[in-house]
Amino acid sequence: MIRYECDKCGRRLDADDPRHFIVKIEVYAAATPLEISRDDLARDHGNEIRRLIDQMSQTDPDEIENRTYRRFRFDLCGECQRAFLTAPLGKR
Ligand SMILES: [Zn+2]
Repeated sequence: MIRYECDKCGRRLDADDPRHFIVKIEVYAAATPLEISRDDLARDHGNEIRRLIDQMSQTDPDEIENRTYRRFRFDLCGECQRAFLTAPLGKR
C-alpha cells in the first residue's frame, strides 16, 4: 500500500484514507492579449530569437521557470486541509 505524509504536519496518510486531500497549485504569468502590427511582421525575428536564446542560456533554469510556470502538488491531512481552505494564501 502506498503511504503518504501530510506535507504540512507530517501525519502519515494511506492512499485510500478519506482524510487524505491533494492540493494542486499552478503559478503562471498573466498574459495580455497580443496585438500584432504590420511593423511586427516586418521585423527581423531571427535576431530577436537568437538574443532570447543567448539570454536564456545564461539564466538559471529555475529562475526561468519561476518567471513563466510552476506547478505544485501537496498531500494534506483533513485538519491541514481545513486550515488551508480557511486561508489558502496564509492570511485571512
Ligand atoms: Zn496535516
